[in-house]
Amino acid sequence: MATYEPVIGLEIHAELNTKTKMFCGSMNDPDETHPNVTICPICMGHPGTLPVINQEAVKKVIQVGLALQGDIQEFAQFDRKNYFYPDLPKGYQISQYQHPFVFGGYLDILPNRRIRIERVHLEEDTGRLQHDNEGATLVDFNRAGVPLMELVTKPDLRTGEEVRLFGEKLQQILQYVGASHADMEKGEMRVEVNISLREAGSEKFGTKVEIKNINSFKFAEKAVQYEILRQSNILDEGGTIKQETRGWNEKKNETFSQRSKESSHDYRYFPEPDLPPLEIKKEFVDELRSALPELPDAKRVRFVSEYGLEESFVLHLIRDKAMASYFEQMVSELGEWESASGEQLDEKQKKEVIRLAANYFTSDFQKLLNETSSAIGDTLVTPENFAELVLLIYRGDISSRVAKDVLEEMFRTGNDPSVIIREKGLEQVSDEDAIASAIAKVIVAYPEQVRDLQNGKETILQFLVGQVMKEMSGKANPQVVAKLLREKLYS
Ligand code: ADP
Ligand code: MG
Repeated sequence: MATYEPVIGLEIHAELNTKTKMFCGSMNDPDETHPNVTICPICMGHPGTLPVINQEAVKKVIQVGLALQGDIQEFAQFDRKNYFYPDLPKGYQISQYQHPFVFGGYLDILPNRRIRIERVHLEEDTGRLQHDNEGATLVDFNRAGVPLMELVTKPDLRTGEEVRLFGEKLQQILQYVGASHADMEKGEMRVEVNISLREAGSEKFGTKVEIKNINSFKFAEKAVQYEILRQSNILDEGGTIKQETRGWNEKKNETFSQRSKESSHDYRYFPEPDLPPLEIKKEFVDELRSALPELPDAKRVRFVSEYGLEESFVLHLIRDKAMASYFEQMVSELGEWESASGEQLDEKQKKEVIRLAANYFTSDFQKLLNETSSAIGDTLVTPENFAELVLLIYRGDISSRVAKDVLEEMFRTGNDPSVIIREKGLEQVSDEDAIASAIAKVIVAYPEQVRDLQNGKETILQFLVGQVMKEMSGKANPQVVAKLLREKLYS
């Protein structure tokens, strides 16, 4: 059996989050649920209407090109791509063929895996077809004419995992740049995978199959893995791969044939006569470049060096732009609180506080967001209150057990942590008399464990500390408890 090397290229579409559509003033509202309301004679292709280029969409696609280190073209043009389909009101789609806005560029998906980009162009989305149970097809044109960016990669990818990594990273960049919400589930970002196999060591590409209608990166990864197996089995048996379009069945976990692709689709492209070609000035591009926000790779490097956190942790922290900026705000509030309290922390202590903040942010707080399916933008917990909570924990004013309850209460009510702690009497008890009397009770209740500890079984200490904590409803300072236990049992 021969060994095969998979060759994979992606075509990715993303709806740009502009206010209005690509060539008219109709709203671009992906959340509009009532069909056929964000439409007008222009996006419905009525005779005599004329398109006008949406500058915001042009800016966004150029910014995506810049974020990917692509070459922004000085000359760009729209073309008509002619084909008939009921979701396409004009009978043609305005797209770009010979003169897209961007050629080239790349995306580094792993430290030494660079995926080159062929081109990025701008076009308009089609309407949505909906097939009902009685065999009728309904059409909603709200999406028709929405600005759509298409990015085509070189056939540089080799595995399903690389496909997922590329998709996730591109999605993150689109969101950081503010070009697209790129929500796969909503169809705002759509991935088509082209895949072929060739014998290992061979330069020549094999026949490719295109997989469409994949609505998550996880499924894209699985579809590639399935397709690699399917194609290698055919080749091993001496068969040939049919050039076709396949779909992904997420229930059966397999790809299935949708249609065989005509060898070369004739779209009869020609320059769109109703739109002027565009001259993209250098100053315009420079302005867009300087307006780019910090991108994920740069943010990752900065978070690692500034905050002293591990890279894997930072990756998690910056996955979502809004999460990352919330965290940054919280860190700057930590600085405020520290100076307000008059206590100076040294560099090492500052990093400890930031680490503590990052831990609560990525675990307990994330869990609360998940459980309530809420977005960071909707949370009642302000970065200022969060920072205050972190400092209260760091100073030992509350125990880590109590901290979880306080955070939950903050999440529910938006209240100040100090107010919650005062109202509920949750201050950590370091008062040695109170702790000593709880210890006395525990010693009576667990004579065997006490003996074990006195005989040198150190691991029992944690258990006894736990019992004392329980006795004091989690409010005791565990360090003080441990200290007093030792004093009591060893002296
Ligand atoms: P088509 O004309 O069929 O649309 P393109 O040349 O435009 O093909 O390429 C579309 C995508 O398919 C690109 O991402 C490209 O990298 C990828 N691709 C091209 N040839 C192959 C191949 N033999 N195997 C896998 N992917 C390929
Ligand atoms: Mg193509």
